[in-house]
Amino acid sequence: MTIVLEAKNVRRVYGRTVAVDGASLALEPGRITGLLGPSGCGKSTLLRCLAGLEPVDGGEVWGGGRLLSAPHVHVPPEARDVGLVFQDYALFPHLTVAENVAFGLAGRPKSERRKLALTQLERVRLAHRADAWPSALSGGEQQRVALARALARDPAAILLDEPFSGLDGPLRTEVREATLSALRAAGKAALIVTHDAEDAMLTSDSLALMEAGRILQRGTPRECFLEPASLAAARLLGEINTLPIAAGATAFGPAPAAEGVLMVRPEGLVLGGEGAAATVEEVRFAGASAVVALSASGVQANARVPLAASPAVGETVRVRIDPLFARAFSA
Ligand code: ADP
Repeated sequence: MTIVLEAKNVRRVYGRTVAVDGASLALEPGRITGLLGPSGCGKSTLLRCLAGLEPVDGGEVWGGGRLLSAPHVHVPPEARDVGLVFQDYALFPHLTVAENVAFGLAGRPKSERRKLALTQLERVRLAHRADAWPSALSGGEQQRVALARALARDPAAILLDEPFSGLDGPLRTEVREATLSALRAAGKAALIVTHDAEDAMLTSDSLALMEAGRILQRGTPRECFLEPASLAAARLLGEINTLPIAAGATAFGPAPAAEGVLMVRPEGLVLGGEGAAATVEEVRFAGASAVVALSASGVQANARVPLAASPAVGETVRVRIDPLFARAFSA
């Protein structure tokens, strides 16, 4: 597979803070890579190293067959074939929407710049706002203009830093869908940095899970969710239960290992049928589902069940572990 932009063992240090601690990541054409991790884990710094906004203290960045960054090498951002979209959009307030999008196209005739800008705006479904000022647009529209501007120069890779985090609810979904369809139509290699597990899984073809400056796991969202490489990786994609295993069993049923801990997602504790007996300690309404706090032989765990199947507090229920959502780790 061709690689468009690649971080190899990148390290970036600020004083005594190791922001990125030997991270490797490769972006491929036409594929969206999600970089997911908690706030402060080094995601933005890694993106900035790829973009050339930060030098590297160790490791290398490669793009288009060229060495772009190394401890004594630094190709500036404008000489890298990348487009950037930031969380705060960073549109120029004194330029119209179309002028913002055309900004990076200096050197071409004015009419051609306008035409290219309109094509990009169509891609993000905003051609009708071409002559508006950025201040007249909603946050979601500004985000789409920022994406159109990044795509206009036809870079090999697009890097997006928390592109949806300033948006809420339906608007977030709408902008996420518009961003995905524009990236797909453009066929670019893309990196989306996010701290939101659902955004990461919904948008990415491949996912990199990051914690404390390191990449914990790379894989498809499905692989990372169902086959986490570690408990830390599993936690990044959602709530988990950790059930102690002794002699091949947990308090909630058999385990595929003799000792260690069994990671089970709340969706993997299924009520009803023939399983282990557990007491319902608490039931919390969560919309279409309910979160049920269970205890069995002194071990606590949360199950997530369809609302219609939620039991009553104090009830004794039977619990079965769905192996799809469970994985054993050595302690
Ligand atoms: P994330 O994007 O995952 O939230 P960042 O890459 O922004 O994380 O930050 C990683 C770590 O590096 C944090 O501890 C942050 O405080 C630190 N950091 C980031 N940028 C700078 C900087 N310019 N100067 C000093 N420390 C920084």
